[in-house]
Amino acid sequence: MNQFIELTEKYSPNNYSPLNIVLTEGKGAHVKDSDGNTYIDCVSGFSVLNQGHSHPKIVQAFLDQSQKITMTSRALYSDNLGVWEEKICKLANKNKVLPMNTGTEAVETAIKVATKWGQDIKGVNADDAEIIAMEGNFHGRTIGSLSLSSNEAYKKGFGVLAGNIKYSEFGNVEQIASLITPQTTAIIMEPIQGEGGVNIPPKHFIKDVKALCEEHEILLIADEIQVGLGRTGKMFAMEWEEVEPDMYLLGKALGGGLYPISAVVANDDIMQVLTPGTHGSTFGGNPLACAVSIASLDVLIDESLPERSEQLGEKLLKGLQKIDSSIIKEVRGRGLFIGIELNENAQSIVSSINEQGILCKETQGNIIRLAPPLVIEEDDIDTIINVITQTIEEKSKQTT
Ligand SMILES: *Cc1c(COP(=O)(O)O)cnc(C)c1O
Repeated sequence: MNQFIELTEKYSPNNYSPLNIVLTEGKGAHVKDSDGNTYIDCVSGFSVLNQGHSHPKIVQAFLDQSQKITMTSRALYSDNLGVWEEKICKLANKNKVLPMNTGTEAVETAIKVATKWGQDIKGVNADDAEIIAMEGNFHGRTIGSLSLSSNEAYKKGFGVLAGNIKYSEFGNVEQIASLITPQTTAIIMEPIQGEGGVNIPPKHFIKDVKALCEEHEILLIADEIQVGLGRTGKMFAMEWEEVEPDMYLLGKALGGGLYPISAVVANDDIMQVLTPGTHGSTFGGNPLACAVSIASLDVLIDESLPERSEQLGEKLLKGLQKIDSSIIKEVRGRGLFIGIELNENAQSIVSSINEQGILCKETQGNIIRLAPPLVIEEDDIDTIINVITQTIEEKSKQTT
């Protein structure tokens, strides 16, 4: 076995089952492994690398800032936190943003803010506050965000979790309506479910949920950590339904693949519930994170990556939908965020695709998720279509 894999497995707990590929270099949409093989990356660090591997402008921003100042803590001001805040607020059409580091921390923050908002503004006793989450969601792995999970296997054995969480089928507005009580403070959802298998809700669903939220004074929290920042062909996936949520949660591509940074974006009528001492993060909003994130957002905007995602995504989706095979249940997607749902376990097809120079991985056992960097070239899209088409058609012949 590969020495790097052996060493890693020796010291890693058994909480992941990676592909047997050791990446050593990455540039744009391409990566290289320790044996010198090259691949088109359709994993993108789970949609962290929307701007591509080692984008020169983001790398430059990282280098420049690392030689100026990297850390202040929030005991002091820096000269770029405000610049980053203004940029992201304008992008999201909100007036307050709270920086954290990882996605799960943004989710934790949102739970805290929504609960305190429920108590201070809506008048719900904090201990009774209820949150409605969607079945099949993914919001993270720490205690608070894990509490939102509908997946018992994720939660089993981890003891007491937080909150009064109710679950609705994703896409079923009647069920959500039936779960609402006077104690409901928030509804949290991914506009398109990522880990759940690229699940796109029916048209008008999010609009209808937003209307329910307005009627019952409930916060709509959009977890755009995976599908935001251009991934689905819009800057925010909520734009597909022209809905502005009360809170955006961002992460992953917010740091351009160089640095972990996440954010909770909302208006002051919600964020005002936070006062000194009620929330914080040592590394949140540090100067290095802000410099990298400013460059990451600039690249998304200057290179029109959401538009690129929409155009190339449509080409990729149409190409893959032409595959004629009984193995395929459905091919769906928005922008460069595509799920190929199979009627069988996807593992053997995934390995075969990997061997032909395209990195992808299955989710939920039978769904192949494709999420290449948004800087990918059209030639590579053609290659992906050809390789996947041939692989699946070949496999169908073997099984019939
Ligand atoms: C990845 C992800 C998270 C958690 O982010 P981490 O940085 O891994 O903590 C939360 N929500 C969604 C939708 C995600 O895809």
